[in-house]
Amino acid sequence: MPTESREEQIVAAGRGKWSKAGVPHKGWQCVDIEDLGEPQIECGMCESQTIRYVHHMEHPNYPEVLEVGCICAGHMEGDVAAARTRESSMKSRTHKRKRWLSRKWKISAKCNPWIKADGFRVTVYRRGSGWAATVSSQNNSLVQHSRRNYKTEDQAKLAAFDHITRLLAKET
Ligand SMILES: [Zn+2]
Repeated sequence: MPTESREEQIVAAGRGKWSKAGVPHKGWQCVDIEDLGEPQIECGMCESQTIRYVHHMEHPNYPEVLEVGCICAGHMEGDVAAARTRESSMKSRTHKRKRWLSRKWKISAKCNPWIKADGFRVTVYRRGSGWAATVSSQNNSLVQHSRRNYKTEDQAKLAAFDHITRLLAKET
């Protein structure tokens, strides 16, 4: 059975946190996406689907960010179409993502690696004990800094790539 229809059934059946008291069903927002390369972790909402494409969902009345699959994300934000668009955007950029780290990154005056891609400028830099990334549009109308710190420079670069994927999915 295709992953998506299986996940629909799991949501309908109220698996995992879908039937747990204190977990909101609606009003979530996607704050991050991630391609793990292969199905690796369990969906944090239905707790019954192994997922590869991870939607990070945040809710004002819930203490932690949940890492969930496409259909759970869609129901949580009340917009399954938006979640599907994000997921297909991640899928279509898989090959590009593989080449991302080996592209020619330039070095800024502050000695930070940066690159231009898809109409954005990405800079990664040391923050605290780890690495962070900033994604800005060419005309600086949008400047966004990563919310998390990453252990390695490569992880920060990949997070920036995924962030751009999410921004591109929003535009369509
Ligand atoms: Zn799920």
